[in-house]
Amino acid sequence: MKKDNPDKIDNPVNETDVSRRSFIKIAGLGLGLAAGATGCDGRPAGGDGWMPAQYEGKGHFPAQVRGRVPIDPKNVSICRDDQKCILCGQCAEVCEKVEAVMGNYELPLKNDIPCIGCGQCTLWCPTGAIVETSGIEKMLKALEDPSVHVVVQTAPSTRVALGEEFGLPIGTNVEGRQVAALKALGVNTVFDTNFAADMTIMEEATELVGRITGKIKGPTPQFTSCCPGWVKFCEYYYPELIPNLSSARSPMGMLSPLIKTYYAKQNNIEPKSIFSVAIMPCTAKKFEAARPEMNNAGVKLGDESIRDTDLVLTTRELAQLMKMKNINLMDLKEAEYDKVMSQYSGGGAIFGVTGGVMEAAVRTAYCLISGEKEPPKLVYNLEPIRGLKGIKSAELDVPKVGKVRVAVVAGMENAKEILKRVKDGSEQYHFIEFMACPGGCISGGGQPKSSLPPSDKARTARINALYTIDEKTTLRLCHENPELKALYKDYLGEPNGHLAHELLHTHEYHDRSMNLVAKK
Ligand code: SF4
Repeated sequence: MKKDNPDKIDNPVNETDVSRRSFIKIAGLGLGLAAGATGCDGRPAGGDGWMPAQYEGKGHFPAQVRGRVPIDPKNVSICRDDQKCILCGQCAEVCEKVEAVMGNYELPLKNDIPCIGCGQCTLWCPTGAIVETSGIEKMLKALEDPSVHVVVQTAPSTRVALGEEFGLPIGTNVEGRQVAALKALGVNTVFDTNFAADMTIMEEATELVGRITGKIKGPTPQFTSCCPGWVKFCEYYYPELIPNLSSARSPMGMLSPLIKTYYAKQNNIEPKSIFSVAIMPCTAKKFEAARPEMNNAGVKLGDESIRDTDLVLTTRELAQLMKMKNINLMDLKEAEYDKVMSQYSGGGAIFGVTGGVMEAAVRTAYCLISGEKEPPKLVYNLEPIRGLKGIKSAELDVPKVGKVRVAVVAGMENAKEILKRVKDGSEQYHFIEFMACPGGCISGGGQPKSSLPPSDKARTARINALYTIDEKTTLRLCHENPELKALYKDYLGEPNGHLAHELLHTHEYHDRSMNLVAKK
């Protein structure tokens, strides 16, 4: 086959393109069998509502050639090896139809090539041409340098997916073995991002209560801000709604500055010698970590060159690193997270699920508003906002404020729909959770490719694993987390207080609409 010539790819009538189409049709016959086999319960293999049309006919994969997503060479989340690309168009289809990015802007573009970094294209790409930008070399360098103190945090969803890379059934919880693997790699300290998910709820729910009661200036509905893919989407397409975004940073964005301030101080470690790494299910987190303003610790410590998060590795990259170092997950005994910032509630555990952030927030907001110690039983299993539907909503009677209406959205095409309703006033909500990935972070762009195309079956198995963690724990309310309470008492002060704002919040959302003209 001829080597790719990008100049010719975009020309629909040149001969090279025509012969490439023929090749893909031939290649598609073989691939179609594998793709067709991944369907579940007779439903489309990609899951209801998420299905690029090309997968719908067995044996006809790919049925058409539609080009591919453009990727900026400076993109910090994803990159593509052109020699592996077969121009099947799966990346373009998921980007356009599920994430509402490609094809949802006019050409020509200005400045950058719009990408929200969600990495769904990496999961759909059948040849592995599109992958995350690798952070493995940087990680190896840090681990090999004895003067560097490596601190790692692990996101809620990685523990229910890493095992798939080592042959375990989809959705197996390998929390303890993941910690053991990191220790075996030479990591000094391992914290749990679940702890910071509890903290995010403390800050976000406090902000929500403030907005609802009028004590904090800010419009409702309040929007979650923990998904960097969604935040960037909002910055591109809905800059006028930026004031609705919660100022609370994501769990990663909160834990990282605390590692370089609170943890460093407690343990007499020079903050500059700490290399802070986040293991995430997400390629967009690489972008979030690189945002210039993600240096709250540096600002606090008077050295703005200090970054809050030095490196983000995806679940896939962690598995790759382990394999490079001959560390087999199956040979490891479970280990425990390090103390001080690792205890977590069931509410924190379900952050990785679409609807999970909202359910955790509702549990805490109910208690904060009503002053009651226990929320009603139904918020421990808020059925209307559970499951894989792209748009869900619920209504709850809360003492003192009456009905509180919330919504949950996964996939940015669905975000467009709900924002239309919010803007034209046909729906009114107090709080909306947005996640870029279908099913939430459990199906993030950095998770193992357990099926091609990604299926609802795999998503459901991971989702159930996180709900099981929640159900099995006696501590289910984020604001009841003892380690978190101690952190506020000993260091942070009040939620939404001065220091909490300095370290855990951001007001640096940027209008990126100058980069594109959104299609109506
Ligand atoms: Fe990342 Fe989760 Fe957002 Fe997907 S839904 S882009 S994994 S934060």
